[in-house]
Amino acid sequence: MKCPRCASPCPPGATHCNTCGFSSERLRRSLGDQWIRLERITDAAHCLRLEDYQRCEVQMDDFERLLPQSFFAVYLGMLPVGLKVAELGFWLLNQGAFNTPLVQKRNDFGIVLVLDPAVRELSLTFGYAIESYFDEATQRRLLERAAKQLKFQDYGAAIRGLIQDSLAVLQRHAKRQLRKPLHSGILPEIIVQPLRSGVPIPQTGHRQSFGGRHSS
Ligand SMILES: [Zn+2]
Repeated sequence: MKCPRCASPCPPGATHCNTCGFSSERLRRSLGDQWIRLERITDAAHCLRLEDYQRCEVQMDDFERLLPQSFFAVYLGMLPVGLKVAELGFWLLNQGAFNTPLVQKRNDFGIVLVLDPAVRELSLTFGYAIESYFDEATQRRLLERAAKQLKFQDYGAAIRGLIQDSLAVLQRHAKRQLRKPLHSGILPEIIVQPLRSGVPIPQTGHRQSFGGRHSS
């Protein structure tokens, strides 16, 4: 796994980062360690117009129809000082119970986008089961494309692009594993398990600044 604050590699099961001192335990103590119910789109920053919201919902439905065990969720909000977008993404994927049309979903197959329009940063956090499909170059490509749209404050287009690009990455890997066209849209190794019953699992995520400002 990688540290959600500094992206340094951490050994599996590690609860803190030896490079920057990030601690998942401290994050849970500060933000809470209970499951929280969330919609797939939380627009606490009021960035999305109704049309954007609806079009993103449609795209999320398509994503889930094609990959029934996976989901894509979005949090737009101004984060407290000191909390990084990737840290919130990490926490959301560990503690969030996302309200999706299909209940058989586990957060380790989920993707959470966190976008803070105030500091102009965004991050993608991938569940443990799919993070290996999104290597560093892939994540950078996705985020850089979104950052271009965000320069024009086109939040809806940026989100839809990220959903589409993430879907394409997952489908490409599923196809490769099946060695035949993806008809069912099911990642072959996915086994449906009870709703988020597992213990919190480590995630990894990358962040991207879209205002020419990079956080560290
Ligand atoms: Zn770190």
